[in-house]
Amino acid sequence: MLSSCFYAIDDPRVSAKCDYSQHDVLMSAFACMYFQDPSLNEFQRQMEQEQHANNLRTLFGVSHIPRNTQLRDILDTIPPETLAPIFKEFFNRLRRHKHLEDYAIFPNLLLLAIDGSQYHNSKEIHCEQCLHKTHKNGDITYSHAVLQGAIMHPDKKQVLPVMPEAISNTDGSEKQDCESKAAKRFISNLKKAHPRQGFLVVGDGLMSHQPMIETYLEAGVHILFVAKPGDHKYMMEWIETFDDIPSYDYTDDKGMNHHYRWKNDIPLHGEADAIEVNYFEYIKTNAKGKVIYRNSWVTDMQLSAQNIVQMTLAGRCRWKIENECFNTLKNQGYHIEHNYGHGKKHLSHNMYLLTLLAFYFHQIFELTDGAYQACRKKLVSKRYMWEKFRNIISFFIMDSWEMVMDFVLNRETYKIQAVKRD
Ligand SMILES: [Zn+2]
Repeated sequence: MLSSCFYAIDDPRVSAKCDYSQHDVLMSAFACMYFQDPSLNEFQRQMEQEQHANNLRTLFGVSHIPRNTQLRDILDTIPPETLAPIFKEFFNRLRRHKHLEDYAIFPNLLLLAIDGSQYHNSKEIHCEQCLHKTHKNGDITYSHAVLQGAIMHPDKKQVLPVMPEAISNTDGSEKQDCESKAAKRFISNLKKAHPRQGFLVVGDGLMSHQPMIETYLEAGVHILFVAKPGDHKYMMEWIETFDDIPSYDYTDDKGMNHHYRWKNDIPLHGEADAIEVNYFEYIKTNAKGKVIYRNSWVTDMQLSAQNIVQMTLAGRCRWKIENECFNTLKNQGYHIEHNYGHGKKHLSHNMYLLTLLAFYFHQIFELTDGAYQACRKKLVSKRYMWEKFRNIISFFIMDSWEMVMDFVLNRETYKIQAVKRD
């Protein structure tokens, strides 16, 4: 499936002059991310050996394995937006096979958390598209970041990324790109990709100002943005003038008290053109009355005793984009901050996207693939499992990815023959 997506990407190069197809380049780099190999150079070097070349052919459909420098040179030229249809295709497949139904937070409404994250930071390595910051001593720090979105659900561990928006300098303008501008482009592209899908977008406190809320509502999505009382003093004072603020409390089995309070149709700020929003807050205290958690949000969804608990769960779910997505990409085997190569134009961002695609594949496996789930169960640690997969492909030629997993699960049924060499 991924193969046909890579083949579908337009290749502007003159074919007679090309040693390697874009498909083989994208797939070779993807294979490295897929197997969570920390060294692209080492992975490629191994793959050039005959046995590994066979695995790259059988598992990933790569005909000609590009050499390292060519792989990076070609990846540097591929516009990152050409990979967007792949994220859309995966999403549509999950939807068609009813896997997204379990993710609906309300009927036909998916919870999509968004957040910015930096994946490159250096004083030396940089490209045309790097963000840059000049320090007092004249040093310059270069960086790349993304505005990432992912579909999630309070009861689900797996998060499903959508095509991110790069936060980078592309148009040659003096003013640098920023998270806020990227957030506006992000929602426009998301709705273009999924025009009929309902979304409840969960964002942080930087999002809960009028221009951003209006942009999102005009795009046709619902919003649920953190609203810190300190950032919204007028709104908070306005709320406190009411004596009838709806609330709901309960104490759970562990003695924790859950306090919810909300107010619909209130002005976001004190200016004449203020939009009306619905505000709610949640405070969790332990049996001794100590506050364990507190947060507050604004939304366009009408709040009531019927949905306040679910809305709070939706708002609290936002941590998963940091923990289950960014943290996993940075620290749990994917090496997203690792410098696989930076390039002059698109290499850095394409490496991020291919890593994100590998993560997306694995999340889909966890959700839908019985053999993968069995491997996870058998080998317990994810890190150990991928080490095992890497070992298998470095020693044996495998016909398919299914065979790699089957080998882990039913090793004893495989007759491993030592070949005597003369
Ligand atoms: Zn750069």
